[in-house]
Amino acid sequence: MTKVYLSLGSNMGNRQDYLQKAVEAIKKLTDTEVEAVSSYYETAAWGLTDQADFLNLAIALETQLSVESLLSACQAIEKDLDRVRHEHWGPRTVDIDILLYGQETWGTEHLKVPHPFMTQRAFVLVPLLEIAEDLVEPQTGQPYEKYLSQLDTSDVRKLEQVD
Ligand code: ATP
Ligand code: CA
Ligand code: CA
Repeated sequence: MTKVYLSLGSNMGNRQDYLQKAVEAIKKLTDTEVEAVSSYYETAAWGLTDQADFLNLAIALETQLSVESLLSACQAIEKDLDRVRHEHWGPRTVDIDILLYGQETWGTEHLKVPHPFMTQRAFVLVPLLEIAEDLVEPQTGQPYEKYLSQLDTSDVRKLEQVD
């Protein structure tokens, strides 16, 4: 089994509903056990900032799927949940990114792990550290907490109640 961390986001339609459905679908993946799901966080859009706010969360799981099979499975879930690919970093019903797959590194166009922007994104690191506070960047050995301490977290707000 390999320990994996995912980052999920939504900024279209009923965002909570889309994220809940994505989490349910991930829980049903073959040879995979979801270990932790973070709170939901309301966050300002990053990259292309002129779009609706996102809801984001992080998931920790153990899986026997290869990283490529996991990526395909996550993309199939995005597609099932109405994701249509428009512009990169544009609005979407559900985005599922693989942050970490064990200690492994992948560097193809199709798959980059650890996720290349994760250390620059408070909307990724805040939910991630809620469920894995001592997590360390595999290449540098630096705690993610240290990366987060250099970011502005004012646009990342925990939702206290979700129903
Ligand atoms: P970003 O990756 O910067 O968060 P994005 O999520 O908006 O941007 P997408 O349009 O969802 O980007 O995905 C573009 C491509 O990124 C996907 O087709 C996928 O093959 C590739 N990709 C590379 N590395 C990863 C990864 N670690 N997790 C998910 N997709 C990845
Ligand atoms: Ca993304
Ligand atoms: Ca993505």
